Amino acid sequence: MPIEVTCECGSVLKAPDEYRGRTGRCKKCGKTLLIEEVHEPVVLDESPREKKQSTRRKREYAAVDSTCSIMKFFAILSLIVGAIFLVNGLNGNQPEMGVVVFFFCLGNAIWLLSIAYVAEMLRDMAINVKRMSEKGQTGI
Ligand SMILES: [Zn+2]
Repeated sequence: MPIEVTCECGSVLKAPDEYRGRTGRCKKCGKTLLIEEVHEPVVLDESPREKKQSTRRKREYAAVDSTCSIMKFFAILSLIVGAIFLVNGLNGNQPEMGVVVFFFCLGNAIWLLSIAYVAEMLRDMAINVKRMSEKGQTGI
């Protein structure tokens, strides 16, 4: 595919592909031009895109971390609230109510913790898979 170079004078210079990077002279005005397709997208090496992907991945992992921390926090909060209701209920007139609220809070805490645990496990698995594929790539 020939390279099309547009000169300042407006004329279009066509050069064969093997002249890429060299200089040529405009037939119309005689100006020296660099033979390089201006409108062609500049293909950089893959690393910037990969870097972008890895930062995005890191951001995703950080999001998982903060979400898990929030879930753990609410799980502990739920346990504390449950314990307070249990103690108040047992000391007061409504021990059943205290026990019900306590078990409700306990259940709440358990599923919050298990989701956080599974999310962290999945994230670690994703990291390991990424590492393994990187090792595989460098090994070739
Ligand atoms: Zn020209």
